[in-house]
Amino acid sequence: MTEACVLVCNCGSSSIKFALIVSGQETQPLSGIAERLESPEARMLWTLNGKAQQQAIPGADHAQALVALLTVLEAYPELQPMAVGHRIVHGGEHFTHSALLDDSVLAQVEACSHLAPLHNPANLLGIQAAQKAFPELPQVGVFDTAFHQSMPARAYRYPVPESWYRDHGVRRYGFHGTSHRFVGNLAQQRLGGGDLGIVTAHLGNGCSAAAIRNQCCVDTTMGLTPLEGLVMGTRSGNVDPSIFSYMAERLHCGVDEITRILNKESGLLGLSGGLASDMRELVNAAEGGHAGAQLAIDVFCYRLAKEIAALAVACGRFDGLVFTGGIGENSRGIRAQVLQHLSLLGLSVDEERNQSNGRDSAWLITTDASLPALVIPTNEELQIARETMSVINADAASQA
Ligand code: ADP
Repeated sequence: MTEACVLVCNCGSSSIKFALIVSGQETQPLSGIAERLESPEARMLWTLNGKAQQQAIPGADHAQALVALLTVLEAYPELQPMAVGHRIVHGGEHFTHSALLDDSVLAQVEACSHLAPLHNPANLLGIQAAQKAFPELPQVGVFDTAFHQSMPARAYRYPVPESWYRDHGVRRYGFHGTSHRFVGNLAQQRLGGGDLGIVTAHLGNGCSAAAIRNQCCVDTTMGLTPLEGLVMGTRSGNVDPSIFSYMAERLHCGVDEITRILNKESGLLGLSGGLASDMRELVNAAEGGHAGAQLAIDVFCYRLAKEIAALAVACGRFDGLVFTGGIGENSRGIRAQVLQHLSLLGLSVDEERNQSNGRDSAWLITTDASLPALVIPTNEELQIARETMSVINADAASQA
């Protein structure tokens, strides 16, 4: 058993993404996915010490996939996990921090399932499978929503009837908390510490931004669900709520169908006329003169810049901006366009630093005279592993 080796699991209804994190090591010795679970095509794909491998596991369920993973690891005594950290999407108002997964915590996670019906039941399935596959290992839940629980009521309440909040939990929760916390902490160190106001923009297929003041989240763009806020790959982000009834009437369908379209057929995909939800494809198409791709990029950047400015207000002071996620870490043109919109807040891109994604300038992509903008690669697995270890250490200390 290796003391500081944590298996990180992110379970969906038919897949488990996994990674092994060994403390003190920069790179993950193992990462992979078990997918198409409970089907004849079930398989596990993984990279172990740099070597890509795969194995068919026909018909395997979540627990059987984890046993297959354990079998792979048997040959590596240095890679025996001492704990399992699980990503859990929704912790409601109950979870402000990561928690050891005992029966009462699992019951609370289940009680949040109505808030994330596609995710929490799948997360629970994965936890039960891991408990079955690794009965001797402690398991910790790390919640996407927990980081945002420090938001004040003025940020998390919607202006709707109070009973909607009280009886039905209608409030803003926020998501991607693990990533915002990870890059926010690194930015705090990079910018010299103290009581700073930092805005973090996580831009992947899903996109959200957060306002962090003195290391606590004070506002974020996602809300009751991950549909609110920024333009995303296929999600609309903010729209007039009357669109629901208006389009349900026009399309002769129910609001469920409108919700589906706003989640799956909107955002970059919708704006580009169905061309692509993938930013890289859109950037290439726009360079080739595709007007829809250019419009999608323009709306994405404009709305993102407006939200960043709003989050700077939420912070009360503005000391730095962080880009992360696939788009934030790689798309120079998108970052440059967003910073151009934000010039009135004192942000000014440095072309050379931006071109190298901040790699040669300790993440900085703005000029020395500018308010700093940083490109910080996120690492949600590492953050989950760290939180897993700190929960286990705190539990051990409380029992000593
Ligand atoms: P997920 O949210 O699924 O984890 P990622 O964080 O991997 O997604 O981000 C995926 C997005 O990042 C896609 O829109 C992809 O096109 C974009 N992306 C990745 N590399 C680049 C690049 N070099 N230029 C522009 N966009 C990029």
